[in-house]
Amino acid sequence: MLQRFTVLTIVIGIMTWAVFASTDRPTENRMPLPIPEMQFNDVKELAPGVFFRYASISATDPSIFGGSNHVWIVFKEFVVVIDANFPKEAADVVADIKKTTKKPIKYVLDTHHHGDHAYGNAVWAKEGAQIIASKPAARLLKTTGPQAWAEAAKTRKDIRDSELKHVDITFDDKYEIQDETQHVIFLNLGHSHTIGDAVAYLPKHKILCTGDACVNGAFNFMGHSNSAEWIKCLEAMAKFDIDIICPGHGKPARKDLLDRQKRYFQELRAAVAQGIAAKQSVDEITRQLDFPWYKQWTGVGVVETEMNKNNVKHVYEELLGKIDHSRLGGTPAPLNLSSGRLTTVAGR
Ligand SMILES: [Zn+2]
Repeated sequence: MLQRFTVLTIVIGIMTWAVFASTDRPTENRMPLPIPEMQFNDVKELAPGVFFRYASISATDPSIFGGSNHVWIVFKEFVVVIDANFPKEAADVVADIKKTTKKPIKYVLDTHHHGDHAYGNAVWAKEGAQIIASKPAARLLKTTGPQAWAEAAKTRKDIRDSELKHVDITFDDKYEIQDETQHVIFLNLGHSHTIGDAVAYLPKHKILCTGDACVNGAFNFMGHSNSAEWIKCLEAMAKFDIDIICPGHGKPARKDLLDRQKRYFQELRAAVAQGIAAKQSVDEITRQLDFPWYKQWTGVGVVETEMNKNNVKHVYEELLGKIDHSRLGGTPAPLNLSSGRLTTVAGR
């Protein structure tokens, strides 16, 4: 019996491998994909038919913010795009995509409901694309979108001139698009940056597009996050076979970016917990916080920006049990990562 079971297991194993290998197996003995040097708004082909666009961003200069990064994947008959960005930037990206392929843009993934990842939806819909998002992301766009959109329209002409377009296709934990040339898997791994985050994994090329669930720099808005779950989500991502991480903001990087991102949340939580145990106020904890490695990574101190100071407050409230994570996302997210308005983000 045991033998028969073993043989059967091997046969099933080989069959599974054969199916998997037919489309997903990377070229034998391949070197890891190189990571291109990139300047703002550059587009580089990371792997055959997979393009990355590096959006301008600065943690300290609010005038430098071109929304989210983008990845687009050219399938046999159509194009799949990761993230919708703001309307103005979406139009810029559409133009860039058209320089790389004549195929129609069929699907756009909103990695989450924030404006710099979802407010360009109407622009993509006009191109004929359908918008995909996880169910919680679609729900947040529906429930909190109109108010956040109206708020954003006060400062952005492109938002005033466009309209809030909701999601066409939703999924629970997984959604796959595959043909004989490309394969992308959208996964909601849990509550990280928001409750609806989706990452996009390209198994054939070992590329993971993380949205804001992993960023490369001091670009973490934690106001809608669950920092404990976020750490687990990063650990889940680390189990994937990865050559390149394409973050939602910042330059593409190797897999160890996941470790840096995780270390920030781990050490932040540990420092805040220690401060709470010592009966320190959140201001005292913030003043004392110093992670030299973080500055080395991001170029700015760990509590240099308003957003990072607010991150300390968020974790402080989380650890005191004052945050109902299931209700997060109701306030507008910051449109500009280094804006002074961030001090007013309540996180609920
Ligand atoms: Zn975001």
